[in-house]
Amino acid sequence: MAYTFNPPKRYLMGPGPSDAHPRVLKAMASPLIGHLDPHFVNMMDEVKDMVQKAFLTKNNLTFVVSAPGSAGMETCLVNLLEPGDECIICINGVFGGRMAEIAERCGAKVHKVITPWGKVTSEQQIKDALKECPKPKLVALVHAETSTGALQPLEEISKLVHEVDSLLVVDAVTSFCGVPLKVDEWGIDAIYTGSQKNLSAPPGLSPVSFSPRAIEVLENRKTKVQSWFLDLNLVKNYWAGAKRAYHHTAPVSAVFALHEALNLVMEEGLENRWKRHYEVHEYLQKELEALGFRYLVDKEHRLPNLNSVYLPENVKDEAALRNTLLNDFNIEVGGGLGDFAGKIWRIGIMGESCTHNHVNMLIGALKEIL
Ligand SMILES: *Cc1c(COP(=O)(O)O)cnc(C)c1O
Repeated sequence: MAYTFNPPKRYLMGPGPSDAHPRVLKAMASPLIGHLDPHFVNMMDEVKDMVQKAFLTKNNLTFVVSAPGSAGMETCLVNLLEPGDECIICINGVFGGRMAEIAERCGAKVHKVITPWGKVTSEQQIKDALKECPKPKLVALVHAETSTGALQPLEEISKLVHEVDSLLVVDAVTSFCGVPLKVDEWGIDAIYTGSQKNLSAPPGLSPVSFSPRAIEVLENRKTKVQSWFLDLNLVKNYWAGAKRAYHHTAPVSAVFALHEALNLVMEEGLENRWKRHYEVHEYLQKELEALGFRYLVDKEHRLPNLNSVYLPENVKDEAALRNTLLNDFNIEVGGGLGDFAGKIWRIGIMGESCTHNHVNMLIGALKEIL
């Protein structure tokens, strides 16, 4: 007896994955070719070119890790940190906490800059941390904290980090291709993102990029990178165009999908895409507030594509309401994490899920249920 599995048609408005464009799904269904086939190698070069453009970087060491965003996070940290190194990690939600956890596992001494969830790290906090740890190997921040919906300003902090000759490491999983992000202009030295948020490709791939300064640090390591799979010295040769050497077998179909998702970004244009996320956010915000939802994050630091909101007073059981949305309306929204579990919703309008129609569907369903 064979099992059949037919996933329902959902509208994905949570913290990821987001809805995929039909062209992306079609690309994924293309026949397999070998990962060393010249056609595949050529397509990987195009992926690299488009990732550079989407990051607004000229960094040559830009490629895609064959694993989800979490592996991109681990790639950045395990390659730049050695046992005994000191680093500063900013924590204002789940993902900053994870970076600290990985850095500790690298044997680094981690100075944590802790900020209440929903707020962002200030320049003053970085200045204070640099007094305690004047020569950190790196300073890491989450640009878009998906657990809270806060958008971290980076430009001024970048200057402070470079004044002490340290590296700026940024988690851009939820900001990439949704809000302004300028890797070279902002002096970001190591950055990772994911395929399934604003890019609207299937989960499981992580574009990354490293500045020449980061490469210098990498080349001067005294110890081997403790992870074989994520060691940039080895994996970078896999993305070295015609010279590419076998490292692992790329998830061929997922890379097809990523290639098409990046094509869609290039066709729309980065600036237009940023604008679309902001405009749909403003519309969603107006409608949610009219229904009695309240935003968690101050307007100034609100992430447009991930809306964290407290529920209206009269809703006693948020989980039951989310279940009704999913089961009766096929709409997925996210619940809160950590201290916010049971208290907030996280409504994603990312990539293909970022349309007025999605907002109308959600608001219409909520009006009917409430
Ligand atoms: C989703 C997310 C990740 C992890 O990405 P996965 O693809 O789930 O591994 C890391 N950081 C942030 C900010 C995220 O939103």
